[in-house]
Amino acid sequence: MFNQIKGHSIQIKNLIADVNLGKLSSGYLFGGPSGIGKKLVALNFAKFISCENISGERQDSCGGCPTCKKIDNGQHPDIFLVTADSAKEIDTMVSSKKEASSAIKIEQIKEIGKRSSFRPYEAKYKIFIIDEAEKMTQEASDALLKTLEEPPKDTIFILVSASERMLAATIVSRCRRIKFNALSLEEMKEMLIADYRLDETKAHFLSCFSQGRLANVLKIKDKDILTEKNSLIDDFLRKKIFFKDRFDAQYKLNLFLGWLRDLLLSRLMKRPTLINIDREAELLKNKNKYTISELKSYINFISEALLYLERNINLRLLTNLARIKLCKA
Ligand SMILES: [Zn+2]
Repeated sequence: MFNQIKGHSIQIKNLIADVNLGKLSSGYLFGGPSGIGKKLVALNFAKFISCENISGERQDSCGGCPTCKKIDNGQHPDIFLVTADSAKEIDTMVSSKKEASSAIKIEQIKEIGKRSSFRPYEAKYKIFIIDEAEKMTQEASDALLKTLEEPPKDTIFILVSASERMLAATIVSRCRRIKFNALSLEEMKEMLIADYRLDETKAHFLSCFSQGRLANVLKIKDKDILTEKNSLIDDFLRKKIFFKDRFDAQYKLNLFLGWLRDLLLSRLMKRPTLINIDREAELLKNKNKYTISELKSYINFISEALLYLERNINLRLLTNLARIKLCKA
């Protein structure tokens, strides 16, 4: 239900208005950073549109009718979630290629076209949520465009994307765009304290570290994250640089980046908002250990390393580079 979603209140209000005013668009594009809950809003929007308990000006789905329950369980015959991962299923169905790559393929979009040509079975609309829409192949994107240009009756497409710029302009222009924003540091901190019962220091660190992306926080909120991050920072400071895999490297480098950023901000500002407030005294004591240009060069190195990691850099090479580049840090 919408009332269980944190933040995005303006976006949700607009979607509710579309339903109550009878102004539903046949295509929506939910854009904004990853991990902030766009797909969750899309699923709840589908639920709100389809819920059986409709009376007057509704503000939310009921959450309890058979339709709401089926959507929650991913079992509603008129609501479809299309993801790059669901390509695996289609791969084994339609081709001999067993290995699926992370893309939304033409076969998936054709399947959508086929399914959308039937009338809805149970609900008022057929709703297709295409997650990470930017992962559509060129062919898939062309096929979707055709469908969007002549949208089948009673069908709604919701495209979800963190990289709108990678979508074809022709597709974007066919959709009503709803822009989502990451939660602010304060919003997220308040939420982690009130709803997840985290203490202030942990909530502060997680809010900064996640940059307002709740999905990232929920993955690590139950860990003893402060002890873990401190021991990882100490490893870096003792030149113990070791990465298990790409994700491990991303995680550790991001943590150390936070430390370096704190040192730099302490040099540049009188009252910076530190990420590592639990080690504020130590940070302030050490801030003059490095020159500003040294700190900037470490930060640049890590920022570049994080980019290379997205492009599959060889891990051993990266580890060696990190040992050399950060040896004085
Ligand atoms: Zn309902």
